Amino acid sequence: MGIHSLNCLRFNMVKILIALGGNAIKQANEQGTKKEQMLNCDVTSKQIAAIIKDDPTRQICLTHGNGPQSGNLALQQDIAKDKIAPQPLDIVGAMTQGQIGFMFQNRIQTNLAKEGINKQCVCIINQVLVDINDPQFIGDNASKPVGNFYTQEEALALKNEKNWLVKNVKPSVTKGWRRVVPCPDPLSNVERNSIRLLVDAGVIVIASGGGGIPVVQKDGELVGVEAVIDKDLAGQKLAEVIEADVFLILTDVECACLNFGKPDVVKLIGEFHLPQMKEYYDAKHFLHGSMGPKVLACLRHVEKTGKRAIIASLDQAVAALAEKAGTHIIP
Ligand code: ADP
Ligand code: MG
Repeated sequence: MGIHSLNCLRFNMVKILIALGGNAIKQANEQGTKKEQMLNCDVTSKQIAAIIKDDPTRQICLTHGNGPQSGNLALQQDIAKDKIAPQPLDIVGAMTQGQIGFMFQNRIQTNLAKEGINKQCVCIINQVLVDINDPQFIGDNASKPVGNFYTQEEALALKNEKNWLVKNVKPSVTKGWRRVVPCPDPLSNVERNSIRLLVDAGVIVIASGGGGIPVVQKDGELVGVEAVIDKDLAGQKLAEVIEADVFLILTDVECACLNFGKPDVVKLIGEFHLPQMKEYYDAKHFLHGSMGPKVLACLRHVEKTGKRAIIASLDQAVAALAEKAGTHIIP
């Protein structure tokens, strides 16, 4: 390869923000043992290594969910509360960022080495600023279910004991009650400058895990709060931070669909323009709390940057970047 083509490669460097779904770390039917989670992270890391092998100039920043891990850890705090001081959700969020960050650092590093790629991968424990006046903090607006399912009786006892907000999120079953916490919109990523520096230096950065640790500005200080930020919306903020060329959301389905779960389901595979996708979003084709925030995050990315956002399945990551799989949202 001559100097000219090397230079072309340098100027063509593509920055990719990858948001990994829950299935990248733990499958729904699993307990969440170390062995299971490490194996899932290994499978995911092979995809990341394949993305880099496909084009070694790619600069990558990763984010991930933490729902099952933080739910279990919160429950553990509760069960052990008479022996060990229980930690609130912001601390639990930080603990799971460290936990999942380690698993990915370990597996990504290993799989890159197997491919003969010399790149560092680091996790940043990451705070995300939210507005204390976000509607989600007001009254009983909070909408993000966390932790275990309870009967109505159990839920109301917990509400009195812990001052939790509880809601019947699955009215069709007896144990349909859960704690709900605010799910505020992310405003900015506190550690953004460090993330940007590392990504530009070619380091694979894991950031904003679980949507980031939510913090509010109070009396001139940043204070952690008991809330959960949607990881796809936080991922969009991270895409802004690194000025990503592509925002790639990897999940457990191959694309976004219209009429999801109905006999006349339509798979949205290929390119779709922003106004068209907005129409589908407004017509409520994408469920609240799952595909909804993914499509919303993509709409925000394309609107702000004029660049591409993709929703695809984890095992089609390389094909999705080659524009051969997934739902692509373009201006
Ligand atoms: P992740 O952990 O990757 O964030 P989610 O469960 O939050 O995964 O979102 C992916 C899920 O969204 C799919 O498994 C699917 O059941 C659901 N979903 C809801 N609406 C749609 C839709 N319109 N098209 C495709 N999937 C949808
Ligand atoms: Mg999700």
